[in-house]
Amino acid sequence: MDPYRLPRHVLPVRYDIRLEPDLTTATFAGDETITVTVTEPTAEIWLNAVDLAIDEVSIETGGAAVTGTASLEDSTERCRLLFTEKIAPGTARLRIKFRGTLNDKLRGFYRSTYKDASGATCTLAATQFEATDARRAFPCWDEPSFKAVFASTLAIDPALTAVSNTAIVSERREGGRKIVKFADTIKMSTYLVAYIVGDLESTDAVRVGSAPLRVWCVPGKVRLASFGREIAAVSLDFFERYYGVPYPGDKLDLLAIPDFAAGAMENLGAITFRETALLVDEHAATHAELERVADVVAHENAHMWFGDLATMSWWNGIWLNEAFATFMEMLAVDAWKPEWDRWTTFGVSRAAAFSVDGLHSTRPIEFPVRAPRDADAMFDVLTYEKGASVLRMLEQYLGPEVFRDGIRAYLRRHAYGNTETADLWAALGDASHQPIPDVMGGWIFRPGYPLVSARLEGSELVLSQQRFTYLPVPLPSGTPGTATRPETPAGGASHQWQVPIQLRLRARGADTARRVLLAEGEARVRVPDGFESALVNEGGHGFYRVRYTPDLRQRLLARLPDGLAPIERFNLLNDTWAATLAGLTPIGEYLDLTARFRSDRDKNVWATVNASFAALNRAIDGGERSRLEALVRDRVGPLVSELGWQPRPGETDLVRQLRGDLLRALGVLGNDPACQATAAELYAASRRDPHAVDPNVLPALIAMLAHAGDAARYEEFLAAFRAAATPQEEQRYLYALAGFRLVPLLEETLARTVNGEIRTQDAPFVVRSILMNVYGRETAWRFVKTNWDTMDRQYPKHGLRRMCEGVIALATPELERDVHAFFRERNIDLGGRILEQYLEQLRVAVTFRERDAGALSAALPESGEGARK
Ligand SMILES: [Zn+2]
Repeated sequence: MDPYRLPRHVLPVRYDIRLEPDLTTATFAGDETITVTVTEPTAEIWLNAVDLAIDEVSIETGGAAVTGTASLEDSTERCRLLFTEKIAPGTARLRIKFRGTLNDKLRGFYRSTYKDASGATCTLAATQFEATDARRAFPCWDEPSFKAVFASTLAIDPALTAVSNTAIVSERREGGRKIVKFADTIKMSTYLVAYIVGDLESTDAVRVGSAPLRVWCVPGKVRLASFGREIAAVSLDFFERYYGVPYPGDKLDLLAIPDFAAGAMENLGAITFRETALLVDEHAATHAELERVADVVAHENAHMWFGDLATMSWWNGIWLNEAFATFMEMLAVDAWKPEWDRWTTFGVSRAAAFSVDGLHSTRPIEFPVRAPRDADAMFDVLTYEKGASVLRMLEQYLGPEVFRDGIRAYLRRHAYGNTETADLWAALGDASHQPIPDVMGGWIFRPGYPLVSARLEGSELVLSQQRFTYLPVPLPSGTPGTATRPETPAGGASHQWQVPIQLRLRARGADTARRVLLAEGEARVRVPDGFESALVNEGGHGFYRVRYTPDLRQRLLARLPDGLAPIERFNLLNDTWAATLAGLTPIGEYLDLTARFRSDRDKNVWATVNASFAALNRAIDGGERSRLEALVRDRVGPLVSELGWQPRPGETDLVRQLRGDLLRALGVLGNDPACQATAAELYAASRRDPHAVDPNVLPALIAMLAHAGDAARYEEFLAAFRAAATPQEEQRYLYALAGFRLVPLLEETLARTVNGEIRTQDAPFVVRSILMNVYGRETAWRFVKTNWDTMDRQYPKHGLRRMCEGVIALATPELERDVHAFFRERNIDLGGRILEQYLEQLRVAVTFRERDAGALSAALPESGEGARK
């Protein structure tokens, strides 16, 4: 018997659950009756439970009650119930009484705290069950395919409010408690059940179709809820129309929880969020902060159908949930705010997936999962961003209407049920009459992606493919984290994909678009007479990189600036930077390329340029830093001068965000003293009058002043962090505390990551931030080594994993050796191939340093050169 899968001779149909949480003692008591269908006579029932004390077990069938005993098996988180007699096939009612603790690990049924207006500490209780933590709140069949109806009752302190998946059907008093009974849910998986109990406030309801929609938060924050409520209502309506299926819940509540491990969780009808992902002051936020709220809210709403109504059968199919919700989030936000150009910005997410998927230690989007624990590591950039990218590629290939029709058919067929990837292919295949599994198999079930090379042979454009990797060979086995390697197929370099390629050919001053399916190693396309240039991956939707011969590249560059769309310019730069890291393009050539984008007005183009400069900053010796700063000033300075510090009338949100991004680059990476001085003046002005500075510029000021700041500035920002009026403001000051250059100040921040001052939902990200800070990375690394056990105990697993990503920045051979030694000695496993991926990314950075240091030094300007006002 597979210890990770429950036997199916007893199936849950309905849970009647009563929970009584006590926020003062941080405990809860539970009493559940599970209606089950018994398919063969048995005296034994297996279900999941962990960290619960089970006090009473009985089962009632055919009018007779049989008592049982429970034994918990910690290693597999299962519970075995043994009864004194066999239970006959048919319907039975299983009753279990149990107790548990409201834990501080932000999973299962947990406790979250916050300070009220008077400064007193208040507690609320919330749940986070995905992937397998419902079993920490009540004994259950905690696998996604055991769908059932949930009828919940919460017995709470009468002063508090309770929210669950469905509408409240009754409230009454019983002793000193308020008894809140909720309506039956639809048939759904355990990981989607939710309970939130606390002193909560909500907005008024807006109605979408027949469902009232509200945003909830702790007292005093409702003023930050209107933006989230708007995108929630707009996107819910968008999805009802897109999917052609009504919203499956009876109401929709969106709740901001002060302590929350992930970004948000798609519990049907009761979506939970970390505060930054839902609450925002739209007049004081940057474009990026607003976009994040819009994205996350739309993403969770998309799940109400994709995930909640139709659900993957097992955790190997998690991409069906997450890739889809990510793709749909883009569609919805793009439809709501076309001026945000969401699909162009999605290029940045796609590039993040390219970075990991260009490693030998990457994994396929979908692979067999045995232990649910293996699926924890699947909540990563490959599932979300690569998954969404290949769906976008498919949508563009099939056509948006055909794709939508396939999705509608899939949801109609599988509503209230469970699915495999093949079910999605079947529905899309029926709609499109195309062999979807042939096209998509390589993208979903194989690791990596192609590098498409383009060359001209006579009057033919020749396209060929090979797998792109940064390093020629994988890390040697025996490297920490490589023990899990056999579980996923090692991708050989001989892989071929079916690559839908969109081309734009220019001849005699006119463009023509062509579509080619590169299914073999090579494809040939006749170019028109009077050929001028060829762009591969027109529109930028393809999940592949492109490499041109110098001649074709030159022809393309001649079309700058207006002949290429922003996403095409972004891809050109991003692909060239990747080729540079891989040793295929000289660093000097890449830096020359960046000089051609000095006047580019697209924020995504600049995101890739600035990220590459930050990577160079981590790879150079301290002695070269002032020369890199001069380079940054040379590239960024001209556009900063042009844009100025204040918004101009008629400017788009994107240009305002760009101004903030560029100022930050100039003042931090460029370390420009004049820019920092202006920042100090403007910051002081903004403290007197909040309208003195554009909200998109303010975070850049804070980052610059931290970079240039002393102990007095640190104290000022620490006080601002503690007194912040919005979640976004709190985050800006919190991360500023990681952005100082002075080591003693960074040490103070590090101490705050383990002493309870910084929430455990944020602390690992703050440590990660100091690991990425070239002035603090060695201190932070020592701190991580010393405090590992404390962090492991305090931080949510997901956070600990993300913290470790910071080792990528420890890009010197000595630090790399030390990182390996630490992870080997401590035998640390981050799940899946995550650790191996971090170590390979570190190897890429150190290899670049060792290989290209001389060429980089030769290409950098003298430190005085290029400084501009
Ligand atoms: Zn999701």
